[in-house]
Amino acid sequence: MNKKGLIIKEASQVVTVSGFESKKGAEMQEIGVIPGGSVLVEGETIAGVGDFDDITRGLRLEDYDIIEAGGKTVTPGFVDSHTHVIFGGYRADEYNWRLRGDSYVQIMARGGGIIKSVTQTREAGYEDLVAAGLRRLDSMMRFGVTTVEGKSGYGLDLETEMKQLRATRALGDRHPLEVVATFLGPHAVPKDFEGGEMAFIRYMAEEVLPVIKKENLAEFADIFTEKNIFELASSRIYLEAARALGFKIKMHADEIHPLGGAELAAEFGAVSADHLLKVSDEGIAKMRENKVVATLLPLTAFSLKADYARARDMIDGGLAVALATDMNPGSCFSESIPLIIALSTLYMGMTPEETLTALTLNGAAALDRSHIIGSIDPGKQGDLLIHEFDSYEFIPYHFGVSTVETVIKKGRIIYQR
Ligand SMILES: [Zn+2]
Repeated sequence: MNKKGLIIKEASQVVTVSGFESKKGAEMQEIGVIPGGSVLVEGETIAGVGDFDDITRGLRLEDYDIIEAGGKTVTPGFVDSHTHVIFGGYRADEYNWRLRGDSYVQIMARGGGIIKSVTQTREAGYEDLVAAGLRRLDSMMRFGVTTVEGKSGYGLDLETEMKQLRATRALGDRHPLEVVATFLGPHAVPKDFEGGEMAFIRYMAEEVLPVIKKENLAEFADIFTEKNIFELASSRIYLEAARALGFKIKMHADEIHPLGGAELAAEFGAVSADHLLKVSDEGIAKMRENKVVATLLPLTAFSLKADYARARDMIDGGLAVALATDMNPGSCFSESIPLIIALSTLYMGMTPEETLTALTLNGAAALDRSHIIGSIDPGKQGDLLIHEFDSYEFIPYHFGVSTVETVIKKGRIIYQR
């Protein structure tokens, strides 16, 4: 007989990260540790958290699956709010050229770079894209990710962008992880596109975006705003079209040059601005005023040997900071949550508590879902992790290694080590 729900009984610690909207600035430190706590999940939804006797009073315990969690730590599931999970082919050769010391210009001249992924994604069969994506989701799940965002942007034409977004939707239909789709048509200007940047942005804004909306293939619209790629003027045209069509907005902003992408994200009420390696103080202030989540992607900075984003300045400046992988075939082929935790705590000046908030509640906020997921609060989805070890302090301490033993999505165990 099917049980009514699940009880995680008397964990050494339950870390709730309690809240229904992003935690900003000093709030990121407040993660709500309940020693000896238990969690009750009814069906797909968290129904209680706290003392075992209190939350199970009046229940017939034989109706529930009970997980004894002594010696373990329970946290919300991780939210990876920035990935490029669907793409054709790989660029391992190019990564090795990079390790050898070849410059990006040399690599481009040899046919590498994003355009190679575009060619391979255009050529890839739909089912092959989905199959590769499902394998990547399995790997993310083992690191404790329960919700993941996936972007298009390796098509750069209507047909392939739609193929990528349909494949993204198929991932969510076929895999226990929840998948949020983002349209990133303006990821690069195709080499052969007549009229260049402005003509391409008009094509995206006028011909592609409306079809993506009509087919309901993406919740968010995103753009790679960067010097010599999509400057502020063209970005503005695209963002205006996206806003008018009712897309929620994300931006790749201020990654390589301090262009003012963060300020533009604030002006357009973006849900998140991502990368931000070169964000200005003015950009941080504007993001705070307009409640834009700062999504930092340390694996990309690590892989490119770039300086990390100024997480400390952002948190001290009152921002809500999220952390995500940026998993993609070029600059960052990694979905490693343990490596993010190591980098954020060792090299970005973030505390273990801020890091946990950034990977859970603030990641959920970066997907406009902080009212549904990202914390252990009654009424939220039962997305939970059980970690090896009796304290959350072990999560950064055991660096580079996943402490996740059990992954629960909507009240169901989907992975157990
Ligand atoms: Zn990205």
